[in-house]
Amino acid sequence: MSEKVTIGSYSQINCYTSCPKHWFLKYKEKWDSPVLKASLFYGNAVEAGIIALLENNPAYLTVAHENWISQTKYNHVTLIQDNDNIAYAHADFDEHVLTPTDKDLLKSYINSLELNFLGEDPVQVYKEVSKIKKNPYKNTTDNMMKYFNKCSWLSLYRKLDILVETFKQQVLPRIKKVHAVQKESSLESADGKFKVKGFIDFIFDFEGYDKPIIFDLKTSAGEYSLDKIELSEQLAIYLGMEGFNYNTNLAGYIVLNKNIAKEVVSYCKKCGTKKEGRHKTCNMLQEGKRCNGEWEDKIELKPEAQVLVASKTDFQIDSMLEDYSHVLKAMKEGIVYKNINNCTNWFGGPCPYLNKCFKDSTEGLVKK
Ligand code: SF4
Repeated sequence: MSEKVTIGSYSQINCYTSCPKHWFLKYKEKWDSPVLKASLFYGNAVEAGIIALLENNPAYLTVAHENWISQTKYNHVTLIQDNDNIAYAHADFDEHVLTPTDKDLLKSYINSLELNFLGEDPVQVYKEVSKIKKNPYKNTTDNMMKYFNKCSWLSLYRKLDILVETFKQQVLPRIKKVHAVQKESSLESADGKFKVKGFIDFIFDFEGYDKPIIFDLKTSAGEYSLDKIELSEQLAIYLGMEGFNYNTNLAGYIVLNKNIAKEVVSYCKKCGTKKEGRHKTCNMLQEGKRCNGEWEDKIELKPEAQVLVASKTDFQIDSMLEDYSHVLKAMKEGIVYKNINNCTNWFGGPCPYLNKCFKDSTEGLVKK
């Protein structure tokens, strides 16, 4: 009789290598935090919009919007909009992406949440709430949290259009052929005992490269560096999964940065001319006469998509798979220990199992 193959998903392995105790509490004991991270849902919404774009669906932005209102996974619907259990980061908010209608809506929220004592201007009130939230000696009320979440959700809603359109303008023209989108794949260890499963976002023929590239899409809060992909275990595994089928050793990340870059640009208040030189007033000539209008600074959004590609050797892929076989073996045998290096920085915030690990308390956790 053949020996049973141990199967692990990339996300479970990633969790185990970050902290085996976290993996055990989450996947074996099925404890979870009722607080959900907005970033996970946001990445899915951006991806849904981009997949719709690649499928030539003219309503690709609507698809992204719908996925930022609610998402369904394994028949379970999670409402994102106005969900008090979704946690946002301070960097999610950006006053420069809000429309005048958004600001009016936020003003009405200030009134209904009775936060007028913090001010009337929606951005100012956000800043006040944010300051209170960051101060451990101050109490953030439920209404303040509701306002913080509303501002963050709305900001990210506006950024959806910017990010998906950035992909359309900067990445799409460079795609020569779409081989696969959201491809489910797996990779077996040499002895056939272990298998890693995962979803590959995209496989494209891409401008400037003579082989297909296996891509993972990242919606990030910062820029990626090339060494991030050179050291990436995820990309090595994905290449191990599909590199042979597509005759490629190239893999990469397409990174859409949620922190939209900005530039200060000056325009003439009188004639609207953009300032190009160092003139103190507008130098545009109108019927032979200098305009001399006053300059006015405006913030312009300069979103950028990063495309990072690296090649992986067979050695890198094989050694990664060997490591993963050991990890899967440890998971199968239930070897669990605490990696206390990640307790206060679990992907950018405190680990939800701090109480469970250090006080044996399940306060703040729910059973899935
Ligand atoms: S609190 Fe620390 S040790 Fe416990 S699961 Fe989280 S990261 Fe691991």
